Amino acid sequence: MLINKLFDTAIVGGGVAGTSLLFTLARYTDLKNIILFEKYDEVSQLNSNPKANSQTLHVGDIESNYTFEKAKKVKRASSMVSNYIQNFGEVDRCGFRGDKMLLAVGEEEIAQLKARYEEFKELYPYLELWDEEFLREFEPNLLKGRTEPILAMGARGQITTVDYKSLSESFVQEALDTDKNIQMRYHEEVTKIERDEDGNYKITTDTTMFRAKSVVVNAGAYSLLFAQSMGYGKEYAILPIGGSFFFTKEKFLDSKVYTMQNPKLPFAAVHADPDCTKDWNTRFGPTAFALPKLERYHALHLRDLVSALNIDKSVTKVYMNLFRDKTIRRYILKNFLEEVPHFGKEIFIRDARKILPSISADDLEFAEGYGGMRPQIIDKKKQELLLGEAKIEEDGLIFNMTPSPGATSSLSIALQDAQSICNVLGATFDTFKHKSEIELLQQTSNEELLQEKKLA
Ligand SMILES: Cc1cc2nc3c(=O)[nH]c(=O)nc-3n(C[C@H](O)[C@H](O)[C@H](O)COP(=O)(O)OP(=O)(O)OC[C@H]3O[C@@H](n4cnc5c(N)ncnc54)[C@H](O)[C@@H]3O)c2cc1C
Repeated sequence: MLINKLFDTAIVGGGVAGTSLLFTLARYTDLKNIILFEKYDEVSQLNSNPKANSQTLHVGDIESNYTFEKAKKVKRASSMVSNYIQNFGEVDRCGFRGDKMLLAVGEEEIAQLKARYEEFKELYPYLELWDEEFLREFEPNLLKGRTEPILAMGARGQITTVDYKSLSESFVQEALDTDKNIQMRYHEEVTKIERDEDGNYKITTDTTMFRAKSVVVNAGAYSLLFAQSMGYGKEYAILPIGGSFFFTKEKFLDSKVYTMQNPKLPFAAVHADPDCTKDWNTRFGPTAFALPKLERYHALHLRDLVSALNIDKSVTKVYMNLFRDKTIRRYILKNFLEEVPHFGKEIFIRDARKILPSISADDLEFAEGYGGMRPQIIDKKKQELLLGEAKIEEDGLIFNMTPSPGATSSLSIALQDAQSICNVLGATFDTFKHKSEIELLQQTSNEELLQEKKLA
C-alpha cells in the first residue's frame, strides 16, 4: 500500500540520534510533516539504551583519549544535551548530577596528568587537582591497598550521567507536543529507500510505502548499508566492536572514574561508572572486541553483516595493520579472553584494580544483558580506522554513522542536519529560539542574543 501524503522529512531509526533530530525539526523549523520509523516497539532499544552504553555525557574534561581540539568540539556538543536537560526539566529523569575524575596512577601518569591540567584548565575552569589526602576522604576505596602514588583531576556537581533512552522519549514527547504533524511508526522496518522521478524519496517498509522530500538515516550500523544500497559510501566499511561491562556486587564509588589512556590503543581506557539502571552500583568497562554482529542481543542477519564488513584488499590491510602492532595485538587477545565465562573476570580484574586496588574477582560479575556494538568505520581509501562519527550527505538525503560519543553529540548532529534540510527544502530554522534554549546558553549573554535577533 502506498501512503500518498508527501512528508517533509522521514527519519529512519528511533535511537537518540533519530529522536534528537525529530525534536529539532519539530521545534525549531517551520517544517510541518515529519515521520519517524523505528523497527522495534520502543525508542532506543539498541546502542542508545542505558544498558548498552556507559551513560556518560562526554564533556572532554576527563577523557584522556581526546586531544584539545576534539575536547573543544565535544564540549560544545555536550553542552547542548546538558542545556536541554536543564531547560526542559529533565534533571534527575534523563540527566543526573554527580562527581567525576580522571585518575593518574604512578609518577609517569601523574606528570602527564599535571601537563594535561595546565593545557585544559582554560577550557574547563572548574577542574581541580585532587591529591591523595583529598581522595582518601572523598573516595576512600581508591586508596585501599594502593602502593603506587595517585593524583586525580576532577569536577563536582556536573551532569555526568545520562539515560539516553529517557532522553529519546523526552525528545519524542516534546516533538509530539508541538502543533506539527508528527507520525511515529514503531515496529516498522524500513527495507528500501529510492529516489523517485520527482526528486522525492520513496521509503518502503515491511508493510507500506511512504514518500518524503528528505530522508535522514540514523540507523546505527545499518546507515551505511542503506547508503551503499543507493550507491553512496562505497569507500567505507564497518568493523563491529562489541563492548561488555562488569558490575561490582556492591557500590564501591560515588564518582565516575576515568583512567589515563594508552595512546597506542584505539578505544578508551576502562572506566568505572555509577549505573543509573542498577541503583548506582559501580559498572566497569567497556571492553572492546571484534564481534561478527550488528546488534548485540538480537538475531544475526548474515547478509547485512557481510555487506557491512565490506571486506576487500584495503579493509584486510587495515585489519593486518591493527594486528601487526604488539600492543594492539595483546589488547585484542586480552579483550577476547575477558568474554570467556567465569575466567573472563580473572583477566578483567587487572584493569579494575587500577581504579580499586583491593577489589577481588569475587567482587565482580559479568554484566549479563548489558553492552552494545560500536559500528567503527574503516575508510578504505585512507586505509585507516576512523574513531569518530561519519556522515554521507547528498540532496536532502543524509546517512549518519555514530560510534561513541554519538549519544553526547546527538543534538549537535541534529542541528547540523536540520539546518541542512532547511537549506535544501527552503524552510526556516529558528536560530534565535534554538540558541536561547539549546545552544551556547551558558556562554551567550542576553545582550548577544538580542543583538543576533536584530541582525536576523
Ligand atoms: C559499549 C558502548 C559504550 C558507549 N558509551 C557511550 C557513552 O558513555 N556516551 C556516549 O555519548 N556514547 C556512548 N556510546 C555510543 C552511543 O551509544 C551511540 O553513539 C549512540 O547510542 C548512537 O545512537 P543512534 O541513534 O545513532 O543509534 P542506535 O541507538 O543504535 O539507534 C539506531 C536505531 O535505528 C533503528 N533501526 C535500524 N535499522 C532500521 C530500519 N531498517 N528501520 C527502522 N529502524 C531501524 C534501530 O532499531 C535503533 O533503534 C557507547 C557505545 C557503546 C557500544
